[in-house]
Order: sequence, then C-alpha cells, then structure tokens
Amino acid sequence: MNPIRLLLLGAPGSGKGTQTSRLLAHFKHIQSVSSGDLLRLQIQRKTELGKIAAQYISKGALLPDAFVTELVHNELSSRGWLSPSSSFLLDGFPRTLKQAKTLRSKLAPHKAALTMVFELDVPESVILERIENRYVHVPSGRVYNLTYNPPKVAGKDDVTGEPLTKRPDDTVEVFGRRLDNYRETSAPLKEFYAKLGILHRVSGETSDIIFPKLLSLVENSLNGSGTPETSEKSTTRDA
Ligand code: ATP
Ligand code: MG
Repeated sequence: MNPIRLLLLGAPGSGKGTQTSRLLAHFKHIQSVSSGDLLRLQIQRKTELGKIAAQYISKGALLPDAFVTELVHNELSSRGWLSPSSSFLLDGFPRTLKQAKTLRSKLAPHKAALTMVFELDVPESVILERIENRYVHVPSGRVYNLTYNPPKVAGKDDVTGEPLTKRPDDTVEVFGRRLDNYRETSAPLKEFYAKLGILHRVSGETSDIIFPKLLSLVENSLNGSGTPETSEKSTTRDA
C-alpha cells in the first residue's frame, strides 16, 4: 500500500471531524491530528498554552501561525510521522498559506509531503443549521449532531460514556467570525495545493454524500492507481 498523507480543508462545520472519524474507522492504519482538538485539550488541561489559545478561540480568531505550527509539528514528530512511510490525516492545520508553506518545508526533508488535500464543499445554509445541534467529546474530538448523528445515550460519548459538551465558539456570533476567517484564508491555501496538483474538491450537502466520494479517492490512491502526482491532477473540479 502506498503511504497517504491527507489534509481536510473546509469551512467550520463542513464535517472535517465527522469525515475524519469515518475515514479512520475504514482505514485502520491511518491516524489523525486535529489542530482544534489539540488546542481544546490544552484548554481543558488548563496549560499555559491552553490559556493563550482560549483567548483567541473564544473570539473566533485564528492563533498566530508560529504558535499552531509548532504545536502540530511537535505532535507529528512525537508520533513518529516525519517519515516517508507514514500515513496520516490532518484536520484544521494548515489553514493559512503561511502555515502550508512552513509545513511543506518541514515535511520535505523527511520525504513525508502531503499526498492529497480534500476541500469539503458544503453549502453555508447547511453548515449554519448544523452548528446549533453540535456536541463534542473533547478528549477524543468525536463530534455528534443531535439530528444526523446523535449519541447512543443522550449527552454521553458512545465510546467512553463521558459527558459531551457544546463548543463555546459554536455561538452564532463567534461562528460567523470563524466563517469569515475561512473565506479569507482558504482561497490562497487552495490555490497553493491546486498548483501542487493534489487538491480535490468534494461537494455535497451531507456527510453521507461526501464520505463515499472521499473513500473512493483515498482507495484509488492507496491502491496505487496513479501516484498523487499523476492521478486526479489539479482537480479543483468536483470530485
Ligand atoms: P470545525 O471544527 O467546525 O470544522 P473549525 O475548523 O473552525 O471548525 P477547529 O479546527 O476546531 O474549528 O478550530 C477551532 C479554533 O482553534 C479556531 O477558530 C482557531 O481559533 C483555532 N485554530 C485551530 N486550528 C488553527 C490553525 N491551524 N491556525 C490558527 N488557529 C487555529
Ligand atoms: Mg473540527
């Protein structure tokens, strides 16, 4: 099997966390890192880093590039993923052009460049509706939606039975700012990955529609039907 190193891009609430869980359940050899989850863990543990992060997150502002880059890079390194044979999935990082460039330069010496980038393209009307009903399990990052994907026991994580919480940045006001940030930062990011020939846009109104599309793209790449350099090249079209 080819190694695959994936990045999920998408507006807040576009289903990055949900698709991550589903991909991980399907491809057991892949693990993920979500910058948002890493930060929420720091906040929950009340670390110094968490205290700084909370100030930005509560306002819906992006953290300074250097701050998040270091956090994620340390995580990649401590998990042993800076290697040509590693497979992993990133959610929420990089999300600015600066972060993307820095990550690329950090992965290059290890021959561990990203192989595919997916843009989850979901209508904003759908996204806004979802957020109200969203609950998370902070330690694992598992996401639930009371309408589409409710927990088996109300208010409890399916796996650990621990309590679910509402994200404090999922309010109408803060969420609006997060969406604005995404609109501003995502265009250059997508252009960067499109030029590298690894961007795939996957459109759909629900996670059930998007998942099979993601799955077939990942399966093709795993089974070596074309290296990331030759297959699905420069697709900013719908996948
Ligand atoms: P969702 O989880 O709904 O898809 P999201 O992508 O906005 O939405 P997270 O990725 O969980 O949410 O990020 C939450 C917050 O953490 C962001 O609003 C931002 O303040 C901070 N953050 C996370 N990742 C980054 C990053 N790569 N760069 C800067 N700030 C970040
Ligand atoms: Mg998320």
